[in-house]
Amino acid sequence: MISSIYKTSDNFLPSRIKLSLESSIKEGLNFNNTLKIFFRADDIGVPSKNFSRMMELFLKYGIPLSLAVVPAWLTRKRWEAINALAGKDQDHFCWHMHGYRHINYETRGKKQEFGPGRTLEQVQNDILNGKRRLQSILKEKFTQVFTPPWNRCSIETMQVLKKMKFKGISRSYDSLPVPPAGLEDFMVHVDLHTRKEKDAEQGWEGLLKEITKGMQSRTCGIMIHHMRMNHNAFIFLEFLFEKLLAYRQIQLVNFNDLI
Ligand SMILES: [Zn+2]
Repeated sequence: MISSIYKTSDNFLPSRIKLSLESSIKEGLNFNNTLKIFFRADDIGVPSKNFSRMMELFLKYGIPLSLAVVPAWLTRKRWEAINALAGKDQDHFCWHMHGYRHINYETRGKKQEFGPGRTLEQVQNDILNGKRRLQSILKEKFTQVFTPPWNRCSIETMQVLKKMKFKGISRSYDSLPVPPAGLEDFMVHVDLHTRKEKDAEQGWEGLLKEITKGMQSRTCGIMIHHMRMNHNAFIFLEFLFEKLLAYRQIQLVNFNDLI
């Protein structure tokens, strides 16, 4: 499903939005002398037109990207196709783990793959199997950071991650519980493509609020869902890249730079 903000055809990105984005960035930089920003792309594992277009855009601007790979979706053949798109600029990309099968096991409440609906044994098995699968296919390109599907998981899951030598976890801003010491918390502030607002007006307002909040943090995380992108969503992402690259105080990083 495409978010409402990208569905308007006439005068996409009116100057009002451009100006608001600009002032959000400036306002944030008043808080911080330097600001680190990472982009995290979820639901990786299957090559597609949108996936290729996303990779091309990041390469064109030389912007780092952390890619959350679903172990059960990835095959050696798919990895060959995906990895070929990274070309020679391998350092830009940080490949890490996004759940195991990306399935919701909760019968009520919010969706989770690693929530209270799983036993400790199930959690341990899935994390171990996912890690082994990614290590065997990605080899040294696999980074031990975990992005739980739907940005949430139990404290038991985080303890298992720590025990299995994962270095960090990436969830939404202000997620609880806090991870155990030694497991870095890479919070995501901005959701570019899975917005829930009913109309474009509210959608832009919500997105710009998240950007302002993110820019006021020392490290701002921006989430991407390539499968939910249309042409307008690519135009906005490119516009955002140009804005961010204009500031010397902004340092664009991936998880490998943060652990
Ligand atoms: Zn996901």
